Order: sequence, then structure tokens, then C-alpha cells
Amino acid sequence: MTDKKPKILVIGAGPMGLAAAYQAAKQGYDVEVLEADDRPGGMAAHFDFDGLSIERFYHFCCLSDEDTLELLDELGRPDAMKWVSTKMGYYLDGRLMRWGNPVALLVAPGIGFITKVRYGLQAFYSTLRSDWERLDKLTAREWFEGWLGKKGYQRLWASLMELKFYELSDNVSAAWVWQRIKRIGKSRKSLLEERLGYIEGGSETLVKLLIDAIEARGGKIHYSARAAKIMVEDGGVSGVDTADGRRFSAEHVISTIPTPFVPGLLAETAPEITAPYERIRNVGVVCILHKLTRPVTDNFWVNISDPSMDIPGFVEFSNLRPTGDDHIVYVPYYMPQTNPIYDESDDYFIEKSYGYLKQVNPALTDEDRKASHVARLRYAQPVCEPDFLSILPDPVTPVRGLQIADTCFYYPEDRGVSESARYAKKLVENIVEGRA
Ligand SMILES: Cc1cc2nc3c(=O)[nH]c(=O)nc-3n(C[C@H](O)[C@H](O)[C@H](O)COP(=O)(O)OP(=O)(O)OC[C@H]3O[C@@H](n4cnc5c(N)ncnc54)[C@H](O)[C@@H]3O)c2cc1C
Repeated sequence: MTDKKPKILVIGAGPMGLAAAYQAAKQGYDVEVLEADDRPGGMAAHFDFDGLSIERFYHFCCLSDEDTLELLDELGRPDAMKWVSTKMGYYLDGRLMRWGNPVALLVAPGIGFITKVRYGLQAFYSTLRSDWERLDKLTAREWFEGWLGKKGYQRLWASLMELKFYELSDNVSAAWVWQRIKRIGKSRKSLLEERLGYIEGGSETLVKLLIDAIEARGGKIHYSARAAKIMVEDGGVSGVDTADGRRFSAEHVISTIPTPFVPGLLAETAPEITAPYERIRNVGVVCILHKLTRPVTDNFWVNISDPSMDIPGFVEFSNLRPTGDDHIVYVPYYMPQTNPIYDESDDYFIEKSYGYLKQVNPALTDEDRKASHVARLRYAQPVCEPDFLSILPDPVTPVRGLQIADTCFYYPEDRGVSESARYAKKLVENIVEGRA
């Protein structure tokens, strides 16, 4: 006689949901995934940009992305990860300079020597540091000002923070910022050489491998299946109702959707547990992609601090992943969804962002822009405030069999494909080991 394993329903077919479904299917569980979108991948999903399959939002990998590497290896495509020596720039005082290594810092014009030394020390020390409990209690601003002084912070960091978080920028945890600096800082071949990675074919390659592996083990993925209500009976989860009226029964439910959506799913069935999810804030993003006939710069990433531009930077993706004869540039506008600019038209963002690229490289003309696309996400980046650890709920909820997590659950690490895949393992382990 065989013991039939309980059914697991995963909400969300982003990297966390797919990795959770894969891990569960591997352990012999009966798995189904509900995805609201018409395609898998979540924030890492692709679209057809005029014949080029590419992510709606730029995606790069770092040398520390062990869980992505492990998955590619396990799923038979270790060769898909490609590493590239990338460059970084900073557009400051109306000129573009090299950034991101000690020599670039030393020769950068317009920054005082003491500020440079302090900046370099903070960046270097961040890569060595592993304890972060003290940073969890500080704001990013306090931490930066402690190293660089108020003036140094204003010069090098203030506008990068303000143009991502706006009115929330003084309420971001130092631990979260530190972890971002560390992840990039450690992704180097040497002190002078940054190394970033991309997956051949884009994030879609990993997404497809996961789907094939899930389906090969009998798992199912349902698209355009928006979870509308998590069903609870006798203190335990019993399934999920979708917006189009279908009911999926299961003994375990793992929700991987952005937590701001969660209270709505539990409003009727378990309103007593929704308060922690209501507390977590996210900013949105309007991300513009431009397809150009020529490069803007030779950098992958360009920071911007310029009073005439309301963006913190842009990502010149073709300087990482080859995209044929075309040059792909992403210009992300992060902001709280309450900002009136968030609702501006696509044309507004296309014109404005392309104007900025022309400002950085005056040789660009309107004829160089072949196509543009605008992607929006209401909940794109959790705002991890100081003391975030104390407000972060346990993924195992008081409702038996129900786990809830999203990208902020692996704080202080920032959202990432590899991090979501790692967290997915933990969620499945909670079931296997009887904690959920
Ligand atoms: C602009 C931008 C740039 C990024 N750059 C990088 C990068 O360079 N490198 C990197 O590693 N990561 C990057 N990320 C982050 C990375 O994309 C995320 O960490 C990762 O996709 C998170 O996966 P997830 O499955 O946890 O969440 P998500 O990708 O958000 O997946 C959640 C899924 O749930 C679905 N969903 C929502 N509501 C419902 C519902 N009611 N019912 C059913 N399904 C629902 C969504 O459609 C989505 O598919 C970036 C993200 C953005 C926005």
C-alpha cells in the first residue's frame, strides 16, 4: 500500500512559485499552480519585443546566484549561464564617467578626495561584512551619512534613493541597501573587473525548464487563473477559488504573490491574519524599453544624479546579453503607485526617457529609436523599512496548511530570481518536515 501525499496548490507562477512547484513535484507531491497572467515568469516573464523575446523587466545574474546555477545544473542546462565583464557608469554634473571600481572612483571628477576614500571604504567593507542585525535598526540614510557625511550622501546617494522611493526614501533599512551593495560588489573577477551573468535565451530559459520538469512529474500549471479566495475550513486551508469561478481543492496552499494582494484573498475566510500583509509597502515601476540602432554607452548600468532628470539610472542590456544588431535599453521609473506620474501615458514615459538617453549621448537622434515598449508593475519592489525583521510574518500562517511569502521574505536580500528559488525550497521543506 502506498501513502498518497497531500495535494499542494501554489499561487503564482513566478520564479518562487515555479521553483516551489518543482521542488514539491520532485518530492512526489501532486502539484498545481494558479497563475493570473497569460504566461509564466512573473516579474521575470518575457514578451515579444518586435521579434525579440526578452524580459519585460531587465534581469542579470551575479556570481552569488547559487540557486539559479543549481537549478540550471539540475535541469540539464549548466551551459546556459553566461558570464560577461561589464562596466558601470555614473552621469553626474552633466557628464558620464566610469564608475564601479577603485580606479574609476579615484579619477572621477567633481567628488572630493575624502568622500571618495569614505565611499570606497564603505563599499569594500560591505563586501566583507556578514552581520547585519545592527543595520536592520538603521535607515539607509543614517548608514550612508555615517560613512560619507551629509554632504557625501547628498552628492552620491540621495537622488538614487529619492528617485526610487520618493517620500519613503528616508524609511528604507540600511540592511537592505547593504545587501544590494554586497551582492554587486562581490560579483567580480578582480577588484577592477565586474562580472555579471545572463541566461542564454533570457530568464525564459529557466522558466521553461522548470515548467517542463513540473509537467514531467505530473504537475499542472493553469494560466489566466487568478486566485480570488483562499478557502479555510476548520482552521485549515482547503483550497482556492479563482476569479472565473473555478475551485481547486488542496491540503496545502503556498501563496507567492506580492503580499499586498493577500488580504483580499483572505478577507472573507481568515481576516484575523491579514494585518501583517497590510503593513508591508511596495513601490511600483513603469519600465520603458527602447530598441535602438546604436548603443547609448558601453556600460551595462548607468547611475544618474542630475537635477534635470527624474530617473536614478538606466540599464543598457545589450552590453550584457547580445541582442543581435539592435541595442536594448531599459529605463525604470520606480515610484509609489500613489504618485500622479505613475498614471501618465506610455507616450509620456517613452518621450521623456528617450530624451534623457539623448542627453547622456547627444549623438543619438530620433531616427535611432526603432521601437519602444512600456511595462508596468503595481507592486514591484517591497519597501523594507528599518526593523523590518520584527514586522516580517512567519511564512507558516496560523491557518493550517497555508504558507504565504513574497520577495520581501528573504530580507535583507533584495528581490531576485535566485533568492526566490532558494526561498521556495524552504517553503516545501516546511511541508516535508511537518512545520506547515
Ligand atoms: C524592474 C525589475 C528588475 C529586476 N531585475 C532583476 C535582476 O536583474 N536580477 C534578478 O535576479 N531579479 C530581478 N528582479 C526581481 C525578480 O524578477 C523577482 O525577484 C522574481 O521574479 C520574484 O519571483 P517571485 O515568484 O517571488 O514573484 P513574482 O515574479 O512577482 O511572481 C508572482 C506571480 O504571481 C502572479 N499573481 C499575482 N496575483 C495573483 C493571483 N491573485 N492569482 C494567481 N497568480 C497571481 C503574478 O502574475 C506573478 O506571475 C527584477 C524585478 C523588477 C521588477
